[in-house]
Amino acid sequence: MSHTILINGSSLPVIIRKHPRSRRMIIRYQPLQHHVSLTLPRYTSIRQGLHFVEEKRAWLADQITEKAQPVPLADGQIIPVLGNDYTLRHIGGRGVVSIDGDRILIPGDESFMKRRILEWLKRQARTEITRLATAKAEQINKPLKRISLRDTSTRWGSCSHDGNLSFSWRLIFAPYEVLEYVVGHEVAHIKHHNHSAAFWATVGEICPDYEKCRHWLKIYGSKLYSYN
Ligand SMILES: [Zn+2]
Repeated sequence: MSHTILINGSSLPVIIRKHPRSRRMIIRYQPLQHHVSLTLPRYTSIRQGLHFVEEKRAWLADQITEKAQPVPLADGQIIPVLGNDYTLRHIGGRGVVSIDGDRILIPGDESFMKRRILEWLKRQARTEITRLATAKAEQINKPLKRISLRDTSTRWGSCSHDGNLSFSWRLIFAPYEVLEYVVGHEVAHIKHHNHSAAFWATVGEICPDYEKCRHWLKIYGSKLYSYN
């Protein structure tokens, strides 16, 4: 019988083993297999074990976010930006960060490279998200209010009760249609402040392929936190 736990909206298999010499329950997140392993002492029931896993849900969520393989924003590193791969190149000298073919050129002192690329990425994210949100709000005839960017680990986007939108700038590392879906999702909340069938119909209007994107976020969303 297979067991699963829902973490950050993603369903993870729980692999249970009995260990005769184990004195307590042991839970581990296994990043390569992307599952949770649970070791049980001989006289602990599976039901007790699963209850224990449920109690550790928040801790597991942290583990998953932390263990996504880190990708340093350093010279030579390849990173996805709005769905295309670019190689980061530190070039020294003066000037502004720029794109040259499939490279992102970062001038200035090497010790400032990370800060400069982060600033640049956030600016690109803001520009693209604003452009997308404006277009999608027009599609559903709703006025757009303030847009802010965040680096929160819990949500990719949100819509306040008075219609202000906020997004994680890290969506810039996601496939383009995933970014488009998150923007569409929050714009649709300007019209429907819930997740009703009417809300999803509006999302479908402005992001026809949204199911695929929701799925991507559930499975790979934590990866967007690995670029640092
Ligand atoms: Zn929502």
